[in-house]
Amino acid sequence: MLMVKEGRPAIRTLQGWAIYVLLEAGAIRECEEHGWMQDRADPHARERAFAAARHDPPAGVSPDEAVAEMCDVLDSIGDTCPECPPEDHGVNP
Ligand SMILES: [Zn+2]
Repeated sequence: MLMVKEGRPAIRTLQGWAIYVLLEAGAIRECEEHGWMQDRADPHARERAFAAARHDPPAGVSPDEAVAEMCDVLDSIGDTCPECPPEDHGVNP
């Protein structure tokens, strides 16, 4: 059974929590037009997010699990929005 501490906001999924913390730290951002998450490739922001995960993981989640989930989320996020036109590649006709 998972013990859920009182007084914390309910987090529906560990992935949702990881995305929230990464957004708060500025490690990722959301495309304003399409809502896709984009990796900002900012090592300092990532470090802040990982520090938050280790120091304050969600209720019922170990720091290691929180960090691992954050890595998975970062792996799944690209550095560009898939729906935005490329800015400088110039490969599309
Ligand atoms: Zn976009």
